[in-house]
Amino acid sequence: MKTDTIAAIATAMSDSGIGIIRVSGENAIEIVSKIYRSKNRKKCLCDVKTHTIHYGFIYDGDILIDEVMVAVLYAPNTYTRENTVEIDCHGGILVMNQILDVLLRGGCRLAEPGEFTKRAFLNGRIDLSRAEAVMDIIHSKNEFALRSSISQLSGAVTRKVQFLREEILYEIAYIESALDDPEHISLDGYCAKLEKKVKSIKSILKKLIDSADCGKMLKDGINTVIIGKPNVGKSSLLNFLVGEDRAIVTSVAGTTRDVLEESIKLHGIGLNIMDTAGIHDTDDEVEKIGVDKARKYAQNADLILYVVDTSRQLDENDDAIMELSADKNMIVLLNKSDLEQIVNAEEVLKKLTHMSENKSNKLTCVSEINPEKLTHMSDCNQKIQGENKKTDTCVITEKNRKIRIISTSIKENIGLDKLEEVIKEMFFGGEIFINDELYITNQRHKEAFLEAYESMEMVQESLVKEMPEDFYSIDLMSAYTSLGKIIGEEVGEDLINEIFDKFCMGK
Ligand code: GDP
Repeated sequence: MKTDTIAAIATAMSDSGIGIIRVSGENAIEIVSKIYRSKNRKKCLCDVKTHTIHYGFIYDGDILIDEVMVAVLYAPNTYTRENTVEIDCHGGILVMNQILDVLLRGGCRLAEPGEFTKRAFLNGRIDLSRAEAVMDIIHSKNEFALRSSISQLSGAVTRKVQFLREEILYEIAYIESALDDPEHISLDGYCAKLEKKVKSIKSILKKLIDSADCGKMLKDGINTVIIGKPNVGKSSLLNFLVGEDRAIVTSVAGTTRDVLEESIKLHGIGLNIMDTAGIHDTDDEVEKIGVDKARKYAQNADLILYVVDTSRQLDENDDAIMELSADKNMIVLLNKSDLEQIVNAEEVLKKLTHMSENKSNKLTCVSEINPEKLTHMSDCNQKIQGENKKTDTCVITEKNRKIRIISTSIKENIGLDKLEEVIKEMFFGGEIFINDELYITNQRHKEAFLEAYESMEMVQESLVKEMPEDFYSIDLMSAYTSLGKIIGEEVGEDLINEIFDKFCMGK
């Protein structure tokens, strides 16, 4: 690891009230003391106590650059665990650059992005998952992301990983000792004990892995795609959600020719909404591109808002849309409820169940719209669940998929208040901030947890097959190593560099 003295501007490169220049390394205090003068010129920074702050001036030779406050912090109780000086100067780009320039000429090297945090990690002050949380705090886009990053910085992931690693290490040590010293340590009855432990570790890992999709959506927003035939009210819906006339609303079919993207917040939930071109067979070349794009976006969506014009018949284009949305969480908006109704929820349900039958993947309908009628839908495994009545008209669930149907009139602003409630319930069981719940928000962590889970599955398999004990310890060791990657104990220099390269300057 590099131990030279580094410097960087830590605040934003824009004109602002104050700017902070950070210096870290063995010679930090000595280098800054050469360019700093106190008011009466008697104080030398080399003589001051640690963790003290000093008023004075920064000079380039005899030229005064700025009036500053300088914080002097001796190792090891600093961010990097090295000697550190922070210079609070005026926040102009020119003045900050001039001070940095004097420091570089005085013996500092310009810090690489994230180098301060990298040093904190390499010097053992924080582990890798906590270092990553630092960057996540800076990039937090919503309250959840911020809360989750802060909890990870305070060690929520670290503690979980350490607990799991200790549990695994105990078993490895036990097996190895028993194999080394069979006279004193017996493996009789050990397999049953190990099996219990493996099951418990697997269930913790599974919960963490499952939390990742939810965590990602809370952190980055739910990728939501609005689809439907032309002129059903897709742009009107987007405009309603965004609160401004971002998409063009007209009564001529096919006006939304491209895909519009907006990020909005519905009471704490981030939605990255895409309004797509109406999906229908078209010969118009420009429109065709839009339709193809809509298909592509729908494939990658977390949620599909499928808008239906209930004053017009469903047709083969609706079949195409339902086919396209198969396997996706979907909210069907039965729109234009203010007009004479030609299509109803039952008809949409019929089509949806038909699509599902074709995939031989049966849907379970949970409905409060006209349940008597639903009983006639032969292949739909029906169940009326009273507890879902509060949310909406109709709930359909498949193994990993949820569908809700809501009746709306975007024009008359009817039924739209339900949308938020339904989204919340669909993705987070109605509750987002569950106390003490740890959501995995980092893809790298998720992959490592998955690797560990797979290794634990191998251990389970070996137990079932009654393999020799050293087989267990090999897979237990791989799980231990995979978990170590999360906190940075089992990672190579390349990965460390890759992670810190994404950091901002001065952090
Ligand atoms: P898109 O092509 O699916 O994006 O549809 P638009 O949002 O452009 O809407 C098409 C037309 O339907 C416009 O004239 C809207 O004002 C109208 N519209 C949208 N929602 C409703 C509704 O709930 N009721 C009625 N009556 N008209 C609506």
